[in-house]
Amino acid sequence: MNLHEYQAREILRKHGIPVPEGAVAASPAEARAIAQRLGGTVVVKAQVHAGGRGKAGGVKLAQTPDDAETVAGRILGMRIKGLVVDKVLVVPAAEIATESYVGFIVDRASQRPVLMVSAAGGVDIEEVAAQTPEKIHRLTVDPRYGLLPHQAQALAFQLYREIGPVRQAADIMRRLYETVYAVGASLVEINPLVTTPDGKVQALDAKIVIDDNELERHPDIAALRDASSEAPSEVQARQAGLTFIKLEGSVGCCVNGAGLAMATMDLVKYYGGEPANFLDIGGSSNPEKVVNALRIITADPSVKAILFNIFGGITRCDDVANGIVQATTAFPLKVPMVIRLTGTNEKEALAILAKAGYSAGTDMDQAVQAAVARAQGRAA
Ligand code: GDP
Ligand code: MN
Repeated sequence: MNLHEYQAREILRKHGIPVPEGAVAASPAEARAIAQRLGGTVVVKAQVHAGGRGKAGGVKLAQTPDDAETVAGRILGMRIKGLVVDKVLVVPAAEIATESYVGFIVDRASQRPVLMVSAAGGVDIEEVAAQTPEKIHRLTVDPRYGLLPHQAQALAFQLYREIGPVRQAADIMRRLYETVYAVGASLVEINPLVTTPDGKVQALDAKIVIDDNELERHPDIAALRDASSEAPSEVQARQAGLTFIKLEGSVGCCVNGAGLAMATMDLVKYYGGEPANFLDIGGSSNPEKVVNALRIITADPSVKAILFNIFGGITRCDDVANGIVQATTAFPLKVPMVIRLTGTNEKEALAILAKAGYSAGTDMDQAVQAAVARAQGRAA
């Protein structure tokens, strides 16, 4: 789950990381009032779940409250990477002497938190990583001991020469490490971490991604979810208890079990197609889940064919077949559907489908090939 900058910076502040004051506005008038209260030049920042807001015109300076109102009016309603901006953060403009990058990710390869720092912070850390990877310094932290003071200090010396900012940055890194565990984050990032001309180190941007598996342990964090800024299909899927991830292709996949769903997507690509989604209807037997799954898949206009791939174990094929019939009766399909099912109650399922006028196979390769062909407008 992604947090907004305004939420992430509050979390950093709670953990003692210096963050400028500021407040969130949903209208130009509110932005104006905040600018008035803060006094002086402010920065108005789009709050969307996307990086690169600065480059997209979503981060702007405003000299006066009037300016803040005008700028907020321009940023609110703007689209950044397809996401509509409905909130802005208004903060006092900081004077910037240097911009660095500091972030933790949970690294799957080492199964540990990795601290990354770079003196080449600012807007384009991905570019730095691609073009000049030697400018990014990494430390894999052993969770048994945590981030040790001398380790943080050594990395801080990669950012600054003066002991003043080094000590401040090392302290921020230690607090950032605590934050990762405190909220169950898979990523916590400050870009830019700035020094001001008077030698203060501050976080001017904050990004936190929460590991979804941690949400149950952190109800206060789960409550920060902003469903209005997430893909509608993913919100619906979560409410229906389905694991769903929207992808860019045209073959809508409806599969039981994450492993089979992965294998199905692999096979779709192997046969020259592109999956439109990852969808795991789970292991339980429940026609309602199939109805919800089909509703979500068919709402996506880029889906040109639907592929069911069900391996009946705990999931009963007849339940899935009933779900398919219920769903297609309630909302008739506009795209072709290919069904493969095998395992528990396969015969009953085939009978239910045949009665409703659908055919189904048991061979996975054949079904995937047929679905790819149909999605590309070819005969199966
Ligand atoms: P991002 O582009 O989505 O990462 O948004 P950021 O919050 O990181 O802002 C992008 C850039 O805007 C920063 O790297 C800074 O150069 C600039 N910026 C942000 N806040 C301030 C500020 O308070 N003062 C000044 N002068 N520049 C700022
Ligand atoms: Mn940034």
